[in-house]
Amino acid sequence: MHFTMNLPGLEEFNMMKKETVGSTYYIHVEKERKAHRCPACGERTNRVHDYHIQKIQHLKMFERTSYLFYRKRRYACSCGKKFPEKTRVVDRYQRHTVEWNQALGLRTIQGKNFKDTADQFHTSPSTAMRRFDRLAAPMIQEVKELPEVIAIDEYKGDTDHGKYQVLFISHIAHQLHTPLFMSSLNFDTNYSTIWL
Ligand SMILES: [Zn+2]
Repeated sequence: MHFTMNLPGLEEFNMMKKETVGSTYYIHVEKERKAHRCPACGERTNRVHDYHIQKIQHLKMFERTSYLFYRKRRYACSCGKKFPEKTRVVDRYQRHTVEWNQALGLRTIQGKNFKDTADQFHTSPSTAMRRFDRLAAPMIQEVKELPEVIAIDEYKGDTDHGKYQVLFISHIAHQLHTPLFMSSLNFDTNYSTIWL
């Protein structure tokens, strides 16, 4: 007995069973068996080699942390190749769904801080930070020339690099407050080196 799921991001699955344990929601899912093209020789096959259960964290549902128990099929080709069935829900070797990763990425940008965001996603702050770093990496560019005015702001964060961070921002306002910790900074003449 199963029914097709109409939950966002999980349309490709059949739901076999669902259960609530405390504040956690577990959904047991499978895909329809269908012919796949062999990645080695290109022939089509729907011969099942085996199954294994993959536990994947998904977005919260009904305010509950939810996990999928995905009974993932492996197909066998007549050429001898064995390969997993295709899915868009989870990338290879990941323990979270693609949708979960995307939602967490958005929250790390919009959320209050990494700790709060991580709590909401029932994950660790370091996972939230790694997600943020991956999103931010392509946006960071090396600066060839520093602007004339630099604004500096310190704030209490909680990253891999320590509890406090300092921001350096190009600033063209007329008035700048002198931050108290300025005395602990040394600039050389062209601002190219800063010691903290
Ligand atoms: Zn093959």
